[in-house]
Amino acid sequence: MGAHVRRGDMVMVLSGKDKGKRGTVKAVFPKTGTATVEGLNIVKRHTKHRPAGGAMSSADTGGIIEKEAPLRLSRLMYVCAKCQVPSRTKVEIRAGLRERVCRRCGEVAERPGKG
Ligand SMILES: [Zn+2]
Repeated sequence: MGAHVRRGDMVMVLSGKDKGKRGTVKAVFPKTGTATVEGLNIVKRHTKHRPAGGAMSSADTGGIIEKEAPLRLSRLMYVCAKCQVPSRTKVEIRAGLRERVCRRCGEVAERPGKG
């Protein structure tokens, strides 16, 4: 527990180079307090096999991999699917389940995946 966002959530980045951008959470890493967000905080990783000389054919050599780098959870804010604005959530017990509820409109956050 502790993470305020879950996989599948729409979130907005509060700071950094991707400030203001939105994306869907791909994975949450509770141990490090970070999460990866689809299409955000992209980093280019060079593999060991760099194209020799020019990089004319970089598209098919796979020399550079673009992937999402983890963002700190403190920099992410849940975006309510109904309000479409970043909203704080509160936890309510509904039908015996701990549900996250938008403080703004009372909409229950979707639970794409359990856990
Ligand atoms: Zn809402």
